[in-house]
Amino acid sequence: NTSPPPLPQPVKITEIKHTKIFINNEWHTSSKGKQFPTINPATGVKICDIEEADKADVDEAVKAAKAAGQRGSVWRRMDASSRGRLLNRLADLLERERAVLATLESKDTGKPFLHAFFVDLDGSIKTLRYYAGWTDKIHGKTMPVDENFVCFTKHEPIGVCGAIIPWNFPLLMLMWKIAPALACGNTVVLKPAEQTPLTALHVAALIKEAGFPPGVVNVVPGFGPTAGAAIAGHMNIDKLAFTGSTEVGQLVKAAAASSNLKRVTLELGGKNPCIVFADSDLQLAVEETQKGAFFNQGQACTAASRVYVQEPVYEEFVRLSVERAKNIVIGDPMEPRTSHGPQIDQHQFEKILALVDSGKKEGAKLEFGGCAVEDRGLFIHPTIFSDVKDHMRIAKEEIFGPVQCIMKFECQQDVIDRANSSQFGLTAAVFTRDVQRAMSVSAALEAGTVWVNCYNALHAQTPFGGYKMSGNGRELGEYALAEYTEVKAITIKLSEQLR
Ligand code: NAD
Repeated sequence: NTSPPPLPQPVKITEIKHTKIFINNEWHTSSKGKQFPTINPATGVKICDIEEADKADVDEAVKAAKAAGQRGSVWRRMDASSRGRLLNRLADLLERERAVLATLESKDTGKPFLHAFFVDLDGSIKTLRYYAGWTDKIHGKTMPVDENFVCFTKHEPIGVCGAIIPWNFPLLMLMWKIAPALACGNTVVLKPAEQTPLTALHVAALIKEAGFPPGVVNVVPGFGPTAGAAIAGHMNIDKLAFTGSTEVGQLVKAAAASSNLKRVTLELGGKNPCIVFADSDLQLAVEETQKGAFFNQGQACTAASRVYVQEPVYEEFVRLSVERAKNIVIGDPMEPRTSHGPQIDQHQFEKILALVDSGKKEGAKLEFGGCAVEDRGLFIHPTIFSDVKDHMRIAKEEIFGPVQCIMKFECQQDVIDRANSSQFGLTAAVFTRDVQRAMSVSAALEAGTVWVNCYNALHAQTPFGGYKMSGNGRELGEYALAEYTEVKAITIKLSEQLR
C-alpha cells in the first residue's frame, strides 16, 4: 500500500483548560483581579479570557524562580543528565499533545493548522530534544597557566532568565528560550505575547506533568508596558531574552542597563534581501523567495521582503512569481487546503495596508493582490510589487505582512551594497549555480544567516541571530549555551609546580 498517511486533524476544543498565571507549578488569578480576552483572528471571536499578570505577579514569579534555582535546591542539585531526561520527557508530552497544541496555536494566531502541526510543533520538539542532549556536555576547560597554579573554568547557570516573546511563533519562540535556559540549569519567567497566550499556558501544564520542580518555569501572561516592563527592569532577573520589534528591543535593553545590568539577548526585525542571479535555477528561486515572503502571512522576522533579481531573468521571475501566487489558498486555517490565514490583529492589518498604499503611491508596480480580502476581517491578499526602488518605504521598512518587493539589479558588487544598505542584518539568501559566487556573496552579506539556494532553512543545531539592529547574541545551536551560562575561572595555587 503506497497511499500517503492521512493528514493530521485539528482537535475539537470545547473549553480552554489553562487560562491562569503559572507560578510554582500552580495556577493563580491576577493580583489586580484583571483579565484580558484572547481573540481568534480568523473569526474575530473571543476564545476565552486570560488572567492578566502585572508587576506584583511578576514579582511572585521571580521569587519562585529564584528559590527554585538557589544553591541546595532540588533543581540545582539535580544531575545534569536528569535535567536532560526531564527535557526529553517534556518533548514526549509535546508529541502526545501535538494535535491539541497545533489546534490551539492555529486558533490563537490564525496560522494554518497544518503549518502549526508540521512547522511549529516539529521545530519545538526538535529544539527540546537537541538541548536535552546538551545538558551533560556543558563543561569548561583547563588552562596551562604559568608557575605553580592550576586553572580551570566551570560553566554555571546565570540564574533567573526572563523571556519576552512575540505572537508570530508563540510556541516555537517559547522553546527557543526555555530549552537552552533549562539545559544550562537556569530557571525561567516567561511572558507570552498578549495576543497569543494559549500554547504557553498549555505547555506550562505539561512542564508540571513532566516533573520539573516548582518554580523552575513560570508563565506570566500579560501586556508589554506592565508585565513585560516589570521583567525587563527587575532587579532579581539575571538575564533577559527578547524577541519582537526593534523599538521594544531598545526599550528592554535600556531597562536592563538601568536596573541591574542583566545580560540581554535580542531577536528583532529584519528586511531580508534575497539575491537571484541569472544563472540560478529560476523555478527554485521563485518558489523559495515566495514561500519566504508569504510564510506565516508574512509575519516573520525572516520574511524575504527584498528580492533583487538580475536583469536578464527579471521579467521572467516576476511572471513566474505572479503565476505561483495564484495557487495560494486563502481560507479557514483549520481546513487542510488553506495555505494563507489572517493577520494577527487590527493594528497589524492597518499598518500593512498603509505600507501597501505607500508602495502604490511611491510608484512601485502592483503585480498581484494589494488589498484586504473583501468581507473577511483580517485577511490580506498576498501582494507582489515589481519595479520597487530602494528609497521606497516598502523597500526599507519591515512590513510584517504578505508583501513581496521585487527589484532589478545588474552587477554583483552593486547588489551587495544595496542588500547591505539596511539598518537590519538578520537573514539573506543567494540563488546561483556558481559555487564561487555563492561563497563570495555569502561572505560579503551583513547578515546572521545566509541561505544559498534555499530559504527559511532553520535548524536547532544552527545559530540564529542578527547583525546590526536585528539583534544581539545568538539563539539555537551550541552558540546559545554561551548566552545562558556564566563562566567561572577557578585558580588553585599548589605548593609545587606540576611538571
Ligand atoms: P512588540 O515588540 O511590541 O511585542 C513583542 C513582545 O514584547 C510582546 O510580548 C509584548 O507584550 C512585549 N512588549 C511590548 N512592549 C513592551 C515593553 N515596553 N516592555 C517589555 N515588553 C514589551 O511587537 P508587536 O507590537 O507585537 O509587533 C510590532 C512589530 O514588531 C511588528 O510589526 C514587527 O515589525 C515586529 N515583530 C517582530 C517579531 C520578530 O519575530 N522579530 C515578532 C513580532 C513582531
